[in-house]
Amino acid sequence: MFFKKSSKVNQFRNFALLLVFAGIAIMYVALLFRAHPILMTLFMCIGFIAVLLSSGVYLWVGLLSTKVVPVVCPNCSKPTKVLGRVDLCMHCNEPLTVDPTLEGKAFDKKYNRRSSYKSQESKDHSH
Ligand SMILES: [Zn+2]
Repeated sequence: MFFKKSSKVNQFRNFALLLVFAGIAIMYVALLFRAHPILMTLFMCIGFIAVLLSSGVYLWVGLLSTKVVPVVCPNCSKPTKVLGRVDLCMHCNEPLTVDPTLEGKAFDKKYNRRSSYKSQESKDHSH
């Protein structure tokens, strides 16, 4: 991964911040192509879309943070937030889960994927 291991909220924030800078950088590059209006417009559009996307990510993180579960990390005793079923502690990167069935299992990002949700649900229904 491009980012070092950190909690999901932090990762999304980093990603959004990176997008803002990327968008501004691309729009700056666009100004270098003043002699080529088509290229300039193209770069301007890409840069603008990147900035728009980052605003979208920020909005999304804001909406997601209303769903996070505040917990006290058992490892470092600091309050942290869990997003999804498994997440890492914001302070010490200790894997945490809000799902008791996953407790004690190795941290795995695939538990957050919708497909694994569905396959587990369908298994439960067949019993
Ligand atoms: Zn911790």
